[in-house]
Amino acid sequence: TTQPIITFHDGHSIPQVGLGVWQTPQEIAAPTVRTAIAAGYRHIDTASGYDNEEGVGEGIRSSGLDRKDIFVTTKLRNTDQGYDNTLRAFDGSLKKLGLDYVDLYLVHWPSPHRGLYTETWKAFVRIKEEGRARSIGVSNFYPEHLERIIGETGVVPVINQIELHPDFQQKAAQEAHKKLNIATESWSPLGQGQFISNPVIGEIARKHRKTPAQVIIRWHVDTGLVVIPKSVTPSRIEENFQVFDFKLDADDMAAIAKLDSAGARMGPDPMTAAF
Ligand code: NAD
Repeated sequence: TTQPIITFHDGHSIPQVGLGVWQTPQEIAAPTVRTAIAAGYRHIDTASGYDNEEGVGEGIRSSGLDRKDIFVTTKLRNTDQGYDNTLRAFDGSLKKLGLDYVDLYLVHWPSPHRGLYTETWKAFVRIKEEGRARSIGVSNFYPEHLERIIGETGVVPVINQIELHPDFQQKAAQEAHKKLNIATESWSPLGQGQFISNPVIGEIARKHRKTPAQVIIRWHVDTGLVVIPKSVTPSRIEENFQVFDFKLDADDMAAIAKLDSAGARMGPDPMTAAF
């Protein structure tokens, strides 16, 4: 399968489209991951907090592919922040996944009220130096959080995974990341599925004879984002990966740019989230 990749500033690269497995129960995580890999996905996005790392690891092992051909991301749970806790939690994630390294380890949320994300990042730097995470990054960080960890360690995260969909395009964050050489990754790329019924998206989908989900995923790809749509339904998992046989044109991109309505966040605001 030829599929687009984004190369990080540390030299490693990530397949631009991956499978998200939030709210994918442990019992179905393995078959879901196998379905995705059979459909061509080479990138899986999980987290300690999704409570399905064992199933994800089993899905990868039973996929018939070499481990090295799959890009695996996991994330640190907020309650495990802090230097020693992070090292311990990372060992736990590797054990649950049944892997000896992950491709990408992310700080799931800055959780500013804990005041621990800088100490946490120092542990991430060590994990990267040990080669047990090929790359390290963050999620839900505002530019001020990024500047703080970079200022204190000199180590720039390779990626920031943030809420991003056509009606919440996060242009300021995308610009800030570009300046720092940080890739941007979209979570809830389909607006948790709710943006699929948007009429502008529907019209573009009809024009290209694709589905609305495919148009939205293609928009993320054409915008230069890493994108991790979630589904547990085999036909949708396949559909969401069939996005490499068409391209949005300038009119489509202009129409979708207009859908941005700043403030249409669906998830919690990372600055104030008290978890
Ligand atoms: P999403 O935007 O990917 O939407 C998923 C939902 O859309 C599905 O549950 C389904 O209802 C619907 N859907 C999917 N494919 C469809 C299709 N082809 N046709 C019609 N409906 C379809 O939402 P998400 O799960 O919130 O986000 C994706 C991934 O992002 C997660 O699984 C997780 O890996 C990641 N994520 C990360 C964070 C974070 O804090 N870092 C937060 C939320 C999600």
